[in-house]
Amino acid sequence: MSAELKRMSDLLKSGATMMSEACPECGSPLFKVGSDIICAKCNKPVVILRAAEEESKIIGSRILDDLEQTVLSKIREMNSVISSEGDVERLTQYGRALSTWLETLEKVRRLRSG
Ligand SMILES: [Zn+2]
Repeated sequence: MSAELKRMSDLLKSGATMMSEACPECGSPLFKVGSDIICAKCNKPVVILRAAEEESKIIGSRILDDLEQTVLSKIREMNSVISSEGDVERLTQYGRALSTWLETLEKVRRLRSG
């Protein structure tokens, strides 16, 4: 029996209950012992921070908001440059850059909605 399995069975024997949540570090099932949450594989208490998780999601969406604004301002810049540009070759280059920015914008918006 592996040390991990031994710890799991010891935990269960001591009255611990297996939780539906998995260890954020190793992905094995977590055990609840009283008010403690323990990972049998990592052999240490795990703190499930839902609030922190939510917070990081909020921060993540803020970054995406900022990124969207940056991309939009770049697209605006490109637009004004393109409208005053007469050189076909440069216009082609700007067009390519613009298409990259638009793709980025699309990705950012997809990430935000997802
Ligand atoms: Zn673990």
